[in-house]
Amino acid sequence: MKNVAILGATGSIGLNTLAVMSLHPEKYNVFALTANNSWREMEKLCIKHMPKFVVMANEGAAESLRKVVPEGVIVLQGEGALNDIASHKNTDFVMAAIVGSAGLSSTFAAVTSGKRVMLANKESLVLGGNLLVAAAKESGAELIPVDSEHSAIFQCLQGGKQGLNKIQLTASGGPFLKTPIAELNKATPKQACAHPKWKMGQKISVDSATMMNKGLEVIEAHFLFQLSSSKIEVVIHPQSIIHSFVYFNDGSVLSQLGLPDMRSAISYALSYPSRQTSGVEELDLTKQTSLEFLSPDMDRFKCLGLAYDALEQGQSSPGTLNAANEVAVDAFLNKKIGFLDISKIIEKTLAIAPISRLDTLASVVENDYLSRQIARSVIEPSLS
Ligand code: NDP
Ligand code: MG
Repeated sequence: MKNVAILGATGSIGLNTLAVMSLHPEKYNVFALTANNSWREMEKLCIKHMPKFVVMANEGAAESLRKVVPEGVIVLQGEGALNDIASHKNTDFVMAAIVGSAGLSSTFAAVTSGKRVMLANKESLVLGGNLLVAAAKESGAELIPVDSEHSAIFQCLQGGKQGLNKIQLTASGGPFLKTPIAELNKATPKQACAHPKWKMGQKISVDSATMMNKGLEVIEAHFLFQLSSSKIEVVIHPQSIIHSFVYFNDGSVLSQLGLPDMRSAISYALSYPSRQTSGVEELDLTKQTSLEFLSPDMDRFKCLGLAYDALEQGQSSPGTLNAANEVAVDAFLNKKIGFLDISKIIEKTLAIAPISRLDTLASVVENDYLSRQIARSVIEPSLS
C-alpha cells in the first residue's frame, strides 16, 4: 500500500488523481491532501477520502476547514506545512499538482527527501530544473512526468535513449488556432479558457491558447530528458490523440496514443513501471476521421518563440519567462490587459531583467520575485 500526498488536490489534476486512486483502493491510500483557498471543496474531499492530513496554504481557509472536517483529519496551514507533508516519512508518492511557481518549494521538498514525485507542476522544472534534477539524483527520488506529452516520451523511452535523434511534442494549438490574429486582442478570458480538447485549470488553459504551455513544456522536456533545444520540436496536432513522438536514427518513430484524458498519464505515474486501469475509455481509431499535423505559426504564437529563446539563454531566463507569464496571465484573467499583451509583457520583462546564475533554491525564488515585480511594472508603469 502506497501513501499518496496530493498537492493541489482540489484542482483538475488533483481530482483526476483521486479518481484513478479510487479504482485501486488496495494499492493507494489517500494520506494527505492540500489546497490553497477552496476549503468547501476540501471538506467534501475529506468526507469522501478521509486523509490523515490536510494542508490549506491560506490560513483563514485552514481555520474555516478545521471547524467542519470529520474527526481524525488533521488540518495544517501554510507553505511550511506543505513542505512537511511532501517530505513526511510516511509519504511514499507525491502528486505535485499545485499550479505555478507556488508549487516549487513543496516539489523541491518531495524531491530532496527521495519520494516518487509525479510531476504535473511543470513550472517548478522551468524555474529550477538543474537544481531539481541534481537533487533527484542525490536523493534517489523518482521524477515521473504527468504532463501528457512528457509521459508519452517517458513511455517511448523505456528501452533507453540510444539512437535518439529528436523528440517532437504535440500541441493542440488551443482555441485560437484559426482565429484571425487581428481579432485576438478582443479575446475574452472565457474564450481563451474554452479549450477544444482538454478540461484544465484556468492558468494552463490560457497558456494553451498562447502556446506558452508548449514553450514551458519544451523547457520541461530539456530538463527531464536532458536534451538540447535543437532536439526538441513542436508540431500542432489539433485532435490531441497522439501525445508526442520520439525519432530514432534507424528511421523508427515511436509515439503513444490515447484519448485526451489526463487519467492515463496520472495512472502510469502511479503504477510505473507496470500498468493498471485508469477509467479512460479505449481509443477507437476508426472514429478518428483524420489526424492532422502542422508546423506552429511563430507569428501567431510568439510565446513559443520566447520560450525557446529563454531556454537558449539559460541561467535565470526560463524563470524570468515563467514569472512574467504568470503575472501577465493573471492580469489577462482579471481583464487588465488584452490577450496579445501577454507575449509583449513577457518579452519586455525578459529584456529588462538581469540574467544571473541560479545555484540555490533561494536564488531561484529571488529571481521569481524580482521578475514578477518587473512584469507588474511593465503592465502598470506607475508601479515602477
Ligand atoms: P488548477 O487551477 O485546476 O488547480 C490548482 C491547484 O493548486 C488547486 O488545488 C489550488 O487550490 C492549488 N493552489 C493554487 N495556488 C496555490 C498556492 N499559492 N499554494 C498552494 N496551493 C495552491 O490547476 P491544474 O490542475 O490544471 O494544474 C496543476 C498543474 O498541473 C499546473 O502546473 C499545470 O501546468 C499542470 N498540468 C495540468 C494539466 C491539466 O490537464 N489540468 C495537464 C498537464 C499539466 P485552490 O483550489 O484552493 O485554489
Ligand atoms: Mg501537456
